[in-house]
Amino acid sequence: MATVSQPPATEQISVENPATGAVVGQVPILSADEVRALAERGRAAQPAWEALGFEGRARVLRRAQKWVLDNQQRVIDTIVSETGKTHEDALLAEIGYVGSAFGFWAKNAPEYLADEKIRSANPFVLGRKLVVRYAPLGLVGVIGPWNYPLSNSFGDCIPALAAGNAVILKPSEVTPLSSLAMEEAMRECGLPEGVYQVATGLGETGQALIDEVDMVMFTGSTATGKKVMERAARTLTPVSLELGGKDPMIVLADADLERAANAATYYSMQNGGQTCISVERVYVEAPIYDDFVAKVTEKVKALRQGAPGGPGSVDVGAVTFPKQLDIVSGHVDAAREAGATVLTGGHANTSAGGRFYEPTVLVDVDHSMACMTEETFGPTVPIMRVADAEEAVKLANDSPYGLAASVWTKDAGRGEAIARRIEAGAVCVNDAQLNYLALELPMGGWKSSGLGSRHGAGGIRKYARQQSLLVTRLAPKRDLHMFPYKAGTTGLLGRAMKLLYGRGKRD
Ligand code: NDP
Repeated sequence: MATVSQPPATEQISVENPATGAVVGQVPILSADEVRALAERGRAAQPAWEALGFEGRARVLRRAQKWVLDNQQRVIDTIVSETGKTHEDALLAEIGYVGSAFGFWAKNAPEYLADEKIRSANPFVLGRKLVVRYAPLGLVGVIGPWNYPLSNSFGDCIPALAAGNAVILKPSEVTPLSSLAMEEAMRECGLPEGVYQVATGLGETGQALIDEVDMVMFTGSTATGKKVMERAARTLTPVSLELGGKDPMIVLADADLERAANAATYYSMQNGGQTCISVERVYVEAPIYDDFVAKVTEKVKALRQGAPGGPGSVDVGAVTFPKQLDIVSGHVDAAREAGATVLTGGHANTSAGGRFYEPTVLVDVDHSMACMTEETFGPTVPIMRVADAEEAVKLANDSPYGLAASVWTKDAGRGEAIARRIEAGAVCVNDAQLNYLALELPMGGWKSSGLGSRHGAGGIRKYARQQSLLVTRLAPKRDLHMFPYKAGTTGLLGRAMKLLYGRGKRD
């Protein structure tokens, strides 16, 4: 799977399986010159791709959709080998997402990017045809993270391609193999050469890519997102940023306790907790706090962790990114030192050559601790007792992040009212994360969690230039407002404006 089609480069990255420590591939570190060469190739290939039209492009995307499902096992094996995630995490959140996204954008791109006829109330443009149209940007750069090499790296290329752009993807240095597998897949499915290319490398490769493209779609940490925006400012290149989060879960006293406990366990531990919209902190109303903690602890204790085998072999996989193990350990150790109690887990485990952190439940936590305020991005669930919903909302909003959140209560109306008070781009009531599967719903962070969004109309229009057209067919030789200015006409125009905008009383 680790076929590399770029020009030869001197330096290489060894790709490691985080669950075993085995080296599973080698990819080149592309220099700025090599990225420029890819960009030239992409720009040369783009016009023919655009000229295929929505139908022609959709045919290729639908073929690719089938390819991913037909080659499911092969793709899952590649993802698992470079991330250490479980078979199910790769199937549900990567194959499932991309399988759905190919069809969604193939079907909806024509409608989202169709010409829009506009009506204006301004009498000065009466009788003119007003249209908004969307044209592809040209060359889009996608820079992706390591936690979802297929969904969050390649997944963002799909709408960019559907819109008629050429795309260069810079995957994370630790998980480049899935993106390269898709290069092979897209070629097999008839995508013209050069329309989708992969620029493997480190952060510098990402920086070089920003200099070459017409728009950057970035997913990653808030710190790197700021660097991306700074670099893009040099060339006034637009950016869309999907960044980190510290997603709160609020459990009210009337919640379905069993469902809430199952959800807290699943959405904090799924993908080893390495999901931007994972449950990162939990606030529970006092009357049910003890029962909730007992249930979650029991469920987390029962989780099986280890090197992923086939389906159903383990529940929680490895820590994909080497540095992440130190961050997770650091948050748990610091919390423990500051008075938190670890009810289960609480240790790193690298004894068998892989990189794991035990599924961990933390209580006696508060906002003086990093585990409640900074992105942990590991299999940990810190749970805090709150007096009431008011305190929960206040604490949920006490964060620089605003990516996603969830509220749990049997009173759905009250849950929705609380959801509207949470400062986050997406809030679920009695669910978490599922909003991400509704590709019709925009998904984007507030505050330090991002800029712009993916999914919905905005998720593809960002890959297009918007152009306004005004077309006049029938008109006099000279409009009233044209030269030469005459006192009589000016007076008439003044009275017309009064009539239009100045009538009636104001408060
Ligand atoms: P990073 O920010 O470390 O890296 C993201 C990508 O940017 C990688 O490809 C990285 O390359 C590249 N990069 C690094 N430095 C630069 C630079 N100066 N200029 C351009 N590109 C650069 O994020 P992680 O890979 O650690 O991903 C985890 C983060 O992603 C978490 O914060 C998570 O919340 C967030 N995320 C957000 C999502 C969302 O939808 N909001 C979804 C998924 C993840 P390299 O790997 O080679 O350093």
